[in-house]
Amino acid sequence: MTIAVYPGSFDPVTNGHIDIATRAARLFNKLVIGIYDTPDKRILFSTEERVELTRRAVAHIPNVEVTSFTSLTVDFAKEMGAKVLVRGLRMVTDFEREFEMSLMNKKLYPDLELVCLMTGLQYQFLSSSLLKEVAGLGGDVQNLVPEFVASALKEKLGSES
Ligand code: ADP
Repeated sequence: MTIAVYPGSFDPVTNGHIDIATRAARLFNKLVIGIYDTPDKRILFSTEERVELTRRAVAHIPNVEVTSFTSLTVDFAKEMGAKVLVRGLRMVTDFEREFEMSLMNKKLYPDLELVCLMTGLQYQFLSSSLLKEVAGLGGDVQNLVPEFVASALKEKLGSES
């Protein structure tokens, strides 16, 4: 049984994340989406909210689980019994960052293999940070996130101002 982990901030989950999770779930017996509890960036949704939204977004995929984690990604992978780390690649800058992190992860946990899936064409420019910026300025986020994520964004950004 091959278990893979797919870590990230998921602040909030987007259709780009869902696409990667759907495709990765076809490749492995089990995919565990790991939500970084304290990412190194400004976060809009609490950890509980990010877990809840992501769970709803992938509820239709039977072999996907969602949980939060606070440790190093490699320790989270070990804890889950995973031998594969899944990440999505959008552009060259993603590649450079992934390359750098994967070399460090390899040193920390040599048995863990990185599998990068290329973004779907329609999600190439979709990131949670850009999404929050657009939604914050009242832009239309239809087709970029599930309906309930769009509502959660509206509520959160409305209550922030
Ligand atoms: P972001 O970089 O959007 O803040 P995360 O930290 O939540 O996102 O990203 C988790 C993983 O999902 C990363 O590997 C990231 O490259 C990938 N990812 C995010 N958005 C997309 C997308 N639109 N297409 C493909 N992969 C994506």
